[in-house]
Amino acid sequence: MSDLSNRKFATKLIHFGAEVDAATGASSVPIYQASTFHHFDLENPPEFDYTRSGNPTRQALEDYIAKLEGGTRGFAFSSGMAAISSAFMLLSAGDHVICTEDVYGGTYRLLTTILTRMNIETTFVDMTNLDAVYAARKENTKAVFLETPSNPTLKITDIAAITAWAKEHDLLTMLDNTFMTPYHQRPIELGVDIVLHSATKFLGGHSDVLAGLTVVANDSLGRRVKQLQNGLGTVLGMQDSWLLMRGMKTLKARMEQSEESARKLADWLSSRSDIEQVYYPGLPNHPGREIHEKQSLGYGAVVSFDTGSGERAKKVLSQVKIPLVAVSLGAVESILSYPAMMSHASMPREVRHQRGIGDGLLRFSVGLEDIEDLIEDLEQALR
Ligand SMILES: *Cc1c(COP(=O)(O)O)cnc(C)c1O
Repeated sequence: MSDLSNRKFATKLIHFGAEVDAATGASSVPIYQASTFHHFDLENPPEFDYTRSGNPTRQALEDYIAKLEGGTRGFAFSSGMAAISSAFMLLSAGDHVICTEDVYGGTYRLLTTILTRMNIETTFVDMTNLDAVYAARKENTKAVFLETPSNPTLKITDIAAITAWAKEHDLLTMLDNTFMTPYHQRPIELGVDIVLHSATKFLGGHSDVLAGLTVVANDSLGRRVKQLQNGLGTVLGMQDSWLLMRGMKTLKARMEQSEESARKLADWLSSRSDIEQVYYPGLPNHPGREIHEKQSLGYGAVVSFDTGSGERAKKVLSQVKIPLVAVSLGAVESILSYPAMMSHASMPREVRHQRGIGDGLLRFSVGLEDIEDLIEDLEQALR
């Protein structure tokens, strides 16, 4: 409906093009709960003919995320992993991938246990070290997979440096933008080819929908990802597409509020002598902070901190009263996770420790509660 080209982010979030139903004026996108569509005229097949291949509700969401990320085309998948695994299907047997070593656990599992069977091989590197990235390239390298800030220690990768190098060598770049969202970080503007999201997290924002979103930087990739989405059938249903759009409208308000609280939480944790280490890109001493500030507009709402021991971390988890103690992040309610026993449980202990994920590490995804209450609650739990 509206002309978006000159609008700022929050305006785009609300007036994204399909916010008013063109047929009836309804104030939200209708849920087209239909698997197939009548052919009124056999000679002119309808725009949508079968919901796996296209559905107007899902299409509205796909156009929405493409606009927010500044890409040419968006795609909605049944989960973040469905989006990520479908993107990897762009590769062929014999190809090699360079991937950040502290990639999301599910992506690590996909690369090391499933794609290996298809003869797609991966080298994991510390992407804070650009020379290590460059050195990992082989004759058959086809793609580079980035995630910044990484999970859970929020390591920063220089996106523009890697995309410039990747372009020189004709490598496809993919970036998992789940932690930042397009409100804080727009990787396509920095040269990334494919942006991926677990929309289950900040984009959905309410811990009530599982979804993945993909945005591509050009039409030819758009055609190829469309073929994969349709061919693999990894699409998002229309109820969930609608729910996700509903959540996304408040993305800016949620991200801003949670970030403000996350900064206070990170400062408070840093001031405590009984916390060994605090990881948050907004802290003055956070490694890579300058690079992060160059490529992002904010620091996000995830703070990790080391309580010193596994015993103490478990005590905190059993004593907190406000946050959900759970896997996942990016919701209206705060979520406290224990990487050693949750997201990174499948990683061998030595590898985990080597990557800074000690037994005492906790990850706090800051929600929309009053920060004073969150701090008071965490303080009594730490005591
Ligand atoms: C949760 C998550 C995923 C996987 O998404 P699902 O929606 O759970 O499939 C991928 N990447 C990151 C960074 C995540 O946090």
